[in-house]
This record gives sequence, C-alpha cells and structure tokens, in this order.
Amino acid sequence: LVVLSNVNKHFGALHVLQDIDLTIARGEVVVVIGPSGSGKSTLCRTINRLETIDSGAISIDGKPLPQEGKELARLRADVGMVFQSFNLFAHKTVLENVMLGQLKVRKTDKQGATEKARSLLDRVGVASQADKYPSQLSGGQQQRVAIARALAMDPKVMLFDEPTSALDPEMINEVLEVMQQLARDGMTMVVVTHEMGFARSAANRVVFMADGKIVEEAAPDQFFSNPRSDRAKDFLSKIL
Ligand code: ATP
Ligand code: MG
Repeated sequence: LVVLSNVNKHFGALHVLQDIDLTIARGEVVVVIGPSGSGKSTLCRTINRLETIDSGAISIDGKPLPQEGKELARLRADVGMVFQSFNLFAHKTVLENVMLGQLKVRKTDKQGATEKARSLLDRVGVASQADKYPSQLSGGQQQRVAIARALAMDPKVMLFDEPTSALDPEMINEVLEVMQQLARDGMTMVVVTHEMGFARSAANRVVFMADGKIVEEAAPDQFFSNPRSDRAKDFLSKIL
C-alpha cells in the first residue's frame, strides 16, 4: 500500500533519511522505534508530504505522492496523522473538530458528517464530550478525538508519531486500547512509539532506525528476544 524506495532527505548538512526502503502492506501494523534524532518523525512526515524528499520515491496505492493543490489535500486525508501534541482546533467543539475535514475535503453533507462524527466519537469512547471544547478534555480524551478526526476521512493508512508521549501515565492505556482496536479492525498503521507492550502485541513488524537508516526489521517476538544488530541490542538494553 505504501512504498518508499531509496528515499533520501537532508536538513542542511544532516543526512536525516538515508536510502530508506520500506513497504507497508494493506492491513499491516508497523512500529518504528529508535533513538532520539534517528529520523522517525521525519520518516512519518515524508509519507504525507509534510516534508519533501531529496531523492527516491514514495507511492501510495501505486500512485506517487502529489505535489500540490487539491491532490495534496486529498493525500493528507488519505494518510491520517496523529501527533504527540493533539493539534485539535481550540475554537471548535469536539464534534466540529471531527466534522470539519469531512465537510471541507470530502464534501460530505452536514447531516452525514454529524452522524459519522458522533459514531466515531462513540467508537473512541468520548461520545459524551461532543459539545465541549478541546481544553475541557483530558489529554487522553483529546488524543482519542484526534484519532476520531483522522478516521473521519476514511484514511487508507494512519500514522502515529508518539501519540502517548505527552500523556499522563494513567491516560496512556485508553489511547493504546483505541489503537489496538483499530489494528484489529484491519487499519494499515505506522506507529512511532516507546510503548514496547504495544509493539509486542499489535505490531506485525518492528522497524528499528538509527542515524537516518533502517538498521533492522523483524517480527516483534524476534526483534525483542533476539535483535541482530549491536545498535538494536544497545538500544533495547537501555529501554527494557
Ligand atoms: P525523537 O525520538 O526525538 O522524536 P526522531 O527520531 O523523531 O527523534 P526526527 O525528528 O526525525 O527524529 O529528527 C531527525 C534529525 O533531524 C534530528 O537531528 C533533528 O534535529 C533534525 N531535524 C528534524 N526536523 C528538522 C528541521 N525542520 N530542520 C532541521 N533539522 C531538523
Ligand atoms: Mg520524533
């Protein structure tokens, strides 16, 4: 579904993505882990073209990423993204947050958008918060709204960049459970996270990055019990 071939990206002198080859199949859940600064966020951001690339190619559903205009807006809808900071619209209610993209990008009618928003808010467990503003919600609730907002666009793939890193510990699980359910429902997902429990239970594959390169890729069982590279061994010894 998502194919990156030989992708390179620099920030000035920094070679932040180096010859990245990565194929994500439909329905697959790929967890990306690695040390700070290894390029995980940049990798995610190239997939919905929040960052341009210097060389190589990225395609979704066999089509190269569009460069601009309406096509780009559609790409951002097809590739849902959930960030560490929830990025909800502060001056819109929870319900409006989940309706907005449907109205603007998908051109859904108002009644259809409202019904879908309510059903998604129910699915992520925050139906009762629909008429509140984001600041009136807990971090865990806000993040679940952010997930509902992305899902409202019927994305082909969902990118999560450390979705639980900004949350108080007691709220982490409620967000991870929504993500687990999404994975079970067959959503194609790329998840950057330090939650190794989630990686073990939800991932089909773990991708380990260091210094802008994919150093190792393996099934979670294999990666955690028997990492091959020294970089991965070293990383795991520090976090587990
Ligand atoms: P973390 O675990 O801390 O989130 P990461 O693996 O997500 O790290 P990236 O955010 O992708 O890492 O950053 C990779 C490198 O690129 C870092 O050295 C970072 O400082 C640098 N970088 C990221 N964004 C930019 C930018 N817009 N301009 C210049 N350098 C950047
Ligand atoms: Mg990051």
